[in-house]
Amino acid sequence: MNLDDLPIRDDLRGKSPYGAPQIDVPVRLNTNENPHPPSAELVADLAEAVGRVSGELNRYPDRDAVELRAALADYLGHGLTTAQVWAANGSNEIIQQILQAFGGHGRSALGFEPSYSMHPIITTGTSTEWIHAAREEDFSLDPGKVVAAIGEHRPDVVFVASPNNPTGTAQPLETIEAILDAAPGMVVVDEAYAEFAREGTPSALTLLPSHPRLIVTRTMSKAFAMAGTRLGYLAAHPAVVEALLLVRLPYHLSTLTQTAALVALRHRAELLGTVDALRRERDATVDWLRSKGLAVADSDANFVLFGRFPDRRAVWEGLLARGVLIREVGPPEWLRVSIGTGEEMAAFRAAMEGVL
Ligand code: PMP
Repeated sequence: MNLDDLPIRDDLRGKSPYGAPQIDVPVRLNTNENPHPPSAELVADLAEAVGRVSGELNRYPDRDAVELRAALADYLGHGLTTAQVWAANGSNEIIQQILQAFGGHGRSALGFEPSYSMHPIITTGTSTEWIHAAREEDFSLDPGKVVAAIGEHRPDVVFVASPNNPTGTAQPLETIEAILDAAPGMVVVDEAYAEFAREGTPSALTLLPSHPRLIVTRTMSKAFAMAGTRLGYLAAHPAVVEALLLVRLPYHLSTLTQTAALVALRHRAELLGTVDALRRERDATVDWLRSKGLAVADSDANFVLFGRFPDRRAVWEGLLARGVLIREVGPPEWLRVSIGTGEEMAAFRAAMEGVL
């Protein structure tokens, strides 16, 4: 028997699962993780904290993750309170909960592509209709066209990733405000890479007080160097959090996850301490790729989209053969490299010299 023989939902037939390859190679620059593992001190603190709560694992976790949400609100600042913050297993689960509450059968979500591939996948998975709107040639958004697309389709949810994956493009607040003014429903600004933004790129968090239908999503998977913990979160009006309580599974965030995330937040100085170096490495990578005559998108994230390769698969395979895994993603002819350590980026440059 194969998949097609099962009585699977019609709208899932023929679809492919999310599939960033997990290949064991010396240099992994393909899923936008922070390359720095936790220090021995942080590992010891994690082990101690996990040990302490392990004696209570016969009990369910705090269903509303109150202590963790308070710590996340404190980290975000902007005067945010526990009631305005919600957490889940990665921002992917946050996005799923948003669509369960505000999307669904007969409803639609609109996004500006190329963008994060899970936005349409989760949209379809929640029986919400996906509406594609295009970015400009340079991957920016034209506010006039954005407002027109929203006016034409009247989507229930609008997604804007800023900085955008896989292009690295950040949106000015004026564009986000134009979207908020035009959108009839919820606006999700996916800020998974916010901490990597260049100076002068403000967060949409500043717009929350005046925009009750705005949701800003964040994650500990990227700058926070905790991808394995699976902790994503959002900031929004308290009523939005109440809406998500209607769809979340009870006890969705395990005691171990909540504990690890709290320890990570206490160690935020160490964990975020690598961000500046990663930004410098990113800017140097952009310069180096441009010096090779390649097209490179400006990046406010911890990855760089570069091209254009008529046969990008050959370049991707050439790098892999040299022990460097990057990502074949985004528009045809472009490839994305995540920013690793100085040594990893040197290995990437050496492999590129071999391939070019
Ligand atoms: N949003 C964007 C734009 C992303 O690139 C990613 C991860 N690739 C996520 C959300 C999801 O991250 P996580 O579920 O690990 O929080």
